[in-house]
Amino acid sequence: FLFLAIETTCDETGAAVLEGPSPPELGVPIVRSSVVASQIDLHERYQGVVPEIASRAHVRQILPTIDEALDRAGVSLGDLQAIAVATRPGLVGSLVVGLTAAKTLALALDIPLVAFDHLEAHLYACQLAYPEKNAYPCLGLVVSGGHTSLFACRGPIEAELLGGTIDDAAGEAFDKVANLLGLGYPGGPVVERAAATGNRLAYAFPRSFLHDDRLAFSFSGLKTAVLYAIRGQDARAGISLDDPQQVADIAASFQEAVVDILVAKTRQALRQTGLRRLGIGGGVAANARFRERIGAMAAEQGVDLFIPPLSMCTDNAAMGGIALAKLAAGQVASLDIDVTAGLVRPKQKK
Ligand code: ATP
Ligand code: MG
Ligand code: FE
Repeated sequence: FLFLAIETTCDETGAAVLEGPSPPELGVPIVRSSVVASQIDLHERYQGVVPEIASRAHVRQILPTIDEALDRAGVSLGDLQAIAVATRPGLVGSLVVGLTAAKTLALALDIPLVAFDHLEAHLYACQLAYPEKNAYPCLGLVVSGGHTSLFACRGPIEAELLGGTIDDAAGEAFDKVANLLGLGYPGGPVVERAAATGNRLAYAFPRSFLHDDRLAFSFSGLKTAVLYAIRGQDARAGISLDDPQQVADIAASFQEAVVDILVAKTRQALRQTGLRRLGIGGGVAANARFRERIGAMAAEQGVDLFIPPLSMCTDNAAMGGIALAKLAAGQVASLDIDVTAGLVRPKQKK
């Protein structure tokens, strides 16, 4: 059972060919090919994703990306038996390009269209990474450019939101701090590189919500604290961005604060839910210090950790393999389905 998955939620154009059992019962598909056309070069000068530029780039890249995924898998359009596409959440102009391509192919080939959720897909990357094990039910943590959310996942397509950030996402904080430090874009990899030679105890940056029952995150106060450390405040001198050691110390102290928060809230969620498996998804999960610390916490708690390889943490279409679970549940989309921009927001208790 061959199917094509398409991912255009933000600034990466992704296409993947996957192969699952036939009929598509609950099973883990094999990734036959996965192609990601990044737009980093286009957004770099703005230090962030510009929606209009992103959607125009998707229009240019979508067909060549699909062609390349088919080529690399050694299959042609006629071999496909379903088309899967991420329809939410994301940038409307970006989502629409992927959905339009998917609808067109499904209609022309007369095969089912499957719509999937980008965040559930980020977590499904865990299942793809460990096909021989069952990744569900699990506590799911999505740490990406737009989200920092905890889910109770009964299955791949049964994620219940437990809580999330009330302001910036963790990846967004990396991007903003990289900008403040003059390190470039995207922020995660460059901050991580700078942090490698820094002292993570150099600055005592704030860790929000650590002593709070709510499964909530906040990173905007941390970002402001980094800004003040750079500029200088309360008789403490600012730093020179020309001094690599000072930049490294801020980067390392900031990264440690983010990791502390993520690990502590995830531990709390494990305790509160009693779930014994932990799945992690999203670009920040590529961070080596985070992987080390979350791994240690999982081991200490005796829970089974599922974390994808680096290439499957950031946006890609292979994680659209989640479509197999949708097909198995009989969830085929109609051709008049629309995209949903909506960022999933937790219900916060006052
Ligand atoms: P969302 O999934 O919420 O819609 P997105 O798709 O843009 O957002 P991803 O592609 O999953 O997010 O992840 C991108 C984010 O991950 C960026 O904010 C980037 O800075 C961050 N990131 C990537 N690599 C690392 C790293 N090594 N350390 C920390 N953060 C990282
Ligand atoms: Mg991205
Ligand atoms: Fe993403």
